[in-house]
Amino acid sequence: MANNPTPVIICESSEQRGITLNEYQQAAVATAIFPTDSHISYLALALCGEAGEVADKVKKVLRDKNGQFYQPDIRAIADELGDVLWYAANLAHILGYKFSNIAQLNINKINSRIERNVLHGEGDNR
Ligand SMILES: [Mg+2]
Repeated sequence: MANNPTPVIICESSEQRGITLNEYQQAAVATAIFPTDSHISYLALALCGEAGEVADKVKKVLRDKNGQFYQPDIRAIADELGDVLWYAANLAHILGYKFSNIAQLNINKINSRIERNVLHGEGDNR
C-alpha cells in the first residue's frame, strides 16, 4: 500500500489499453448461466465464494510454502481474481450499473477520502 496515495482518474476506454471494463462486462454477461429467480443473492454468494478462493490460495502459500509466492501460485490467484471480477461484473449488470460506473464510483469515493484525509478509519460513509 502506498504511503502517500494520490487521486486516480479512470479513462473508460482506450484502444491501446486493451479490453475496457464495459467490454469485459458485456462478455461476462454474455457467458452467464445462473438461476433466474434469484439473480442478486446468487451472484452475491458466488462473489463471496470466489473471494474466498482467492483467500484460500493465499492461505495455502502461507501454510505450505512459508509465504513464498511462486509464479504458479500467483497465476492461480490471478485466475481466482478473474472469477471475482466475472461475478462482480454480472452483479453490477443485474443492479443496472455499467462496470465502468462502478469503477468510477469507487475511485470517486477513494479520492474523496484522500482529499479529506479520512482514508484510514472505519465506516462506508466517511
Ligand atoms: Mg474460482
